[in-house]
Amino acid sequence: MLEYEKYIYEKDIRFANKIELNNLLPDIKIINPNLKSVHSQILQNVNDKVIKSFNGFFNRINNGNKAGYPRFKNINRYNSFTYPQSGFKFLNNKKLKLSKIGIVNINLHRIIKGNIKTLTIIRTSTNKWFACFSVHIDINPPKRESNKIIGLDLGLDKFAVLSDNSVIENPRFLKKSLERLRLKSRQLSKKEKGSSNRLKSRFKLAKLHEKVYNQRLDFLHKTTLKFVNEYNCIALEDLNPSSMKNKYLQFSINDVSWDRFRQLLTYKAEYAGCKLDFVNPKNTSKECSKCGNIQDMPLSKRTYNCSCGLSISRDFNSSLNILHHSLFHRHMAGTAIKACEEVSVETSVKQEATCLS
Ligand SMILES: [Zn+2]
Repeated sequence: MLEYEKYIYEKDIRFANKIELNNLLPDIKIINPNLKSVHSQILQNVNDKVIKSFNGFFNRINNGNKAGYPRFKNINRYNSFTYPQSGFKFLNNKKLKLSKIGIVNINLHRIIKGNIKTLTIIRTSTNKWFACFSVHIDINPPKRESNKIIGLDLGLDKFAVLSDNSVIENPRFLKKSLERLRLKSRQLSKKEKGSSNRLKSRFKLAKLHEKVYNQRLDFLHKTTLKFVNEYNCIALEDLNPSSMKNKYLQFSINDVSWDRFRQLLTYKAEYAGCKLDFVNPKNTSKECSKCGNIQDMPLSKRTYNCSCGLSISRDFNSSLNILHHSLFHRHMAGTAIKACEEVSVETSVKQEATCLS
């Protein structure tokens, strides 16, 4: 399909749409009869993915970002397929019927709620197979009684510093396993290509990567759950880590996974009826949380000292600013969320307002 897109572009200076790609399938099945053993919607879904990657490519170009042309995917890296609507059926809680594959035993991790929309079968690099359902469900978040609000400053040194001055340490899972990862990669690179030892070695490396991934995910799930259970309103910076291009920091940024944190926090908050506010990150570290004065704060400066007498840790200062900015914003816009309006830290809003007036 990718090849066809290239061909059409060279011929007509345009790209083929999904319908055109789908219309190619019958002919491709004649050339490659193996494809007849794949459910038709799965093949169409591959076309969806091709179109999506082209759309992503153009979006990135239109937004002025660096964009790589969609690439061919090695068969070893092709680890999932999707039934977008039909072709699968639960026989009971232990068996799943997949069209053109047959009946497979499953280990149901949890009862599926809502209307099942799609099913994606995933094989991990350690040869574990997962059936992932996406479902449509109506969320009725519970009414929250308390009015607890918190500002979060996510960092590389500490995972997060909260506006009540408590700290969540950065577990640094990747860093902890780095030695062993390097050792395993070295061992892999020494094995002869195509040998069974190389396969074994690759599997061991994949196992270790999986472990780090699982540790991190577990940490993020627990941390985000704790936040939405404990607080009604959470303010954090509207950072876009994927746009933060700093090759020295990139490793650490990957290790703390802010993207994933934000993703998990967002959906958990929705379930729990907890409000999130992503505030503009401008000056959150440079501004004095007490008097509003702005000063340069290079990363090496760990304490915020101000002429007004404030002397607190850099990250604590940021978390207070994040909290103040979010409240102030709501205050001004008159769109205050009820639970947030009657907050205990109202004094800081007033303080902020006087500073700006
Ligand atoms: Zn100050």
